[in-house]
Amino acid sequence: KTINLGGKVAVITGASSGIGKAIATYLASQGVIVSLGARRMDKLDELQSQITFQGGNASVWLTDVTQKESVNGLIQHTLDTFGQVDVMINNAGVMLLSKLEELRFEEWDAMIDTNLKGILYGIGAALPYFKARKEGHFINVSSLSGHRVDPTSAVYSATKFAVRALSEGLRQEVKPYNIRTTIISPGVIQSELTQAITDPYAKEMVKGMEGMAISADAIAHAVAYAMSQPQDIDISELIIRPTAQP
Ligand code: NDP
Repeated sequence: KTINLGGKVAVITGASSGIGKAIATYLASQGVIVSLGARRMDKLDELQSQITFQGGNASVWLTDVTQKESVNGLIQHTLDTFGQVDVMINNAGVMLLSKLEELRFEEWDAMIDTNLKGILYGIGAALPYFKARKEGHFINVSSLSGHRVDPTSAVYSATKFAVRALSEGLRQEVKPYNIRTTIISPGVIQSELTQAITDPYAKEMVKGMEGMAISADAIAHAVAYAMSQPQDIDISELIIRPTAQP
């Protein structure tokens, strides 16, 4: 088992599939108590059963990160259930790629509401508690698209650049409170992320990348690495990509 992890309580948004699910499963196997949030409760219930069956400890909470009361509820539920929160993992996100000229206003809104405002609400929900406790850790999932822009990724990249800006600003501001901040920037990872793309051109483009995708376990291991450092060590950012990815 990884040192420094056992007994910690981690809140994970977007835990119902892909990267969030892999993080939850791996952390639970390392003795971390996990509090799982997402909109699909059937998936969360299934994951909770699986974790419990494997000897782990998990609770679930219906969470829509675009609603701040909902994210506050996730934190409150975790405190009520487990008595503490050590790590807030803001992972929930959507990637609805298309060219700007397609004018997909609803998809732009969904990405901004989920990827940007959702992370802000996650920060807002846990920060007062971390501040009062003088200890805490935010792990915010950005992307390689938070470092680069490609055709069809303008809005998605804008939200992921913003996640890195928010996280860096947070890192600078919360020093007095002994709070750590980690940005996780994955490359192409196996998950359900591309399934929601509706634009045919973008769909075709991502199909060409699927072959190189690596397991979401790689991201789970990176999260565990950042979490397992002693409290005076802050792993500020990690980029994890397939060796084959340009
Ligand atoms: P998935 O689509 O498999 O998972 C996305 C998760 O986010 C789901 O659990 C989904 O749950 C949740 N989610 C979406 N909208 C909301 C919402 N409004 N409220 C609560 N939860 C929500 O994709 P990934 O696992 O790949 O994505 C996880 C993160 O990783 C995202 O932020 C993504 O941008 C990022 N990322 C992924 C990469 C990849 O290649 N896969 C690369 C770089 C970054 P539900 O639908 O049940 O609410």
